[in-house]
Amino acid sequence: MNYRDLEVWFITGAQLLYGGDAVVSVDAHSNEMVKGLNDSGRLPIKVVYKGTVNSSDEISAAFRAANADTGCIGVITWMHTFSPAKMWIHGLMDFKKPLLHLHTQYNEKIPWDTMDMDFMNLNQSAHGDREFGHITSRLRKPRKVVVGYWKDKATQDKIAVWMRVCAGWADAQNMRIIRFGDNMNNVAVTDGDKVEAEIRLGYHVDNAPIAKLVPYVKAVTEAEIDALVAEYDKLYDIAPDAAKGGKNHIHLRAAAAQEIGLRRFLDDKGAKAFTTNFDELEGMDQLMGFASQRLMAEGYGFGAEGDWKTAALVRTMYVMSLGLEGGGSFLEDYTLNFDGENTSVLQAHMLEISPAISKAKPKIEVHFLGIGDAGTCARLVFTAHEGEGIACTIVDMGNRFRMIVNDVKVIKPKALPKLPVARALWIPQPNFEVGAGAWILAGGTHHSSFSFALTKEYMEDYAEIADIELLLIDKDTTIRQFKKDMRINEVYYMLNKALR
Ligand code: MN
Repeated sequence: MNYRDLEVWFITGAQLLYGGDAVVSVDAHSNEMVKGLNDSGRLPIKVVYKGTVNSSDEISAAFRAANADTGCIGVITWMHTFSPAKMWIHGLMDFKKPLLHLHTQYNEKIPWDTMDMDFMNLNQSAHGDREFGHITSRLRKPRKVVVGYWKDKATQDKIAVWMRVCAGWADAQNMRIIRFGDNMNNVAVTDGDKVEAEIRLGYHVDNAPIAKLVPYVKAVTEAEIDALVAEYDKLYDIAPDAAKGGKNHIHLRAAAAQEIGLRRFLDDKGAKAFTTNFDELEGMDQLMGFASQRLMAEGYGFGAEGDWKTAALVRTMYVMSLGLEGGGSFLEDYTLNFDGENTSVLQAHMLEISPAISKAKPKIEVHFLGIGDAGTCARLVFTAHEGEGIACTIVDMGNRFRMIVNDVKVIKPKALPKLPVARALWIPQPNFEVGAGAWILAGGTHHSSFSFALTKEYMEDYAEIADIELLLIDKDTTIRQFKKDMRINEVYYMLNKALR
């Protein structure tokens, strides 16, 4: 997975009122700006200038082409001159991909001594971008508006964030998620409307009985297991009983077979994410927790207990953060530690946490896990490093999907010599009381997709593109305002369909 074949198109708006010289200038400036953006080294995906559009027909043709082009993951529009916005109605109504409206200007400063009326007519983005903004608002068109000079790092960085989100969005539009077993019985928050998810968020969720996976695991050869265990030996510390010659080594070899079989199965099915269920493991000798840890670190989305929404989000956040510093993982709120201002929540799971969130060398251990049919399982044990991150989830509110994002501060836990699973300890922002309180009021999951690499700006862009509800919990959150926001949203989403 990489961004090499992806493009973001740049379309400049103008009109023919100002004569041929203006058209030539607009085109030259646009070329220079796009080259400058690409040469900045700050954008992860290449920008392709698709020309200046001067009429309704040209605008519609440009957006139709963008829809049809599989490499194009989004369009940036910018108005060099005035571009009467009725010309944009049909094109924007047809356009199905993410939109970024860049409010900038070719020249940085007003040339005070020389500016005449011709110059001002040519350089009227202040005017043209407002006209364009009106019609996108009138059409209720989701988009990111980035305001700033195009050479400024801050402006380019906002475009870069949006580009990464577009890549995640494009990836999700043909994402297949395999569920090995159903949602955990009786659990509400991890379930949801899979039809609406495909309509709204793009991904497709399929069932695969565990019996279909078993032959893949059985077909793995001893030589393949030898090779993979040798790789483990290089990457991880291995507890003596789990190492070669130890009494539990057999379970590590079984986990290696699961990893190889699971990867093959997912690749055969073209699946980018998967879920497991500890209660549906007939034919397996252990829960595929170790394999899930390894595959998550490679970029497969994962959700435990049939949690396909979190599996999809883990995958999407992985794609968004490709090449950035800091990893991500599926996590679960487990145990509280009351400690005044430092009150924190221990994140763990029965096994499945990605080693991408630890800077330390993970240790392979093998233990019996007495939940469901989990059996004696290998697992990577480690502690997430300290730092700032975000925890995200999507819940199904019945009439809409709601994304909840919480800034979290990962801190160092005390040693946990008796806890045989990976863990992270964090303080939800702005503090435990408000952070956890708001998350619970919003109906957030006990599972989340966590990232050290991304910030809430990414998820704001994602929610805008997906056109789903977003609730942010950060340093500015108060419970009083948060409750008010949720009530307003409730009304907004009831009326939303009527407005469109
Ligand atoms: Mn769980």
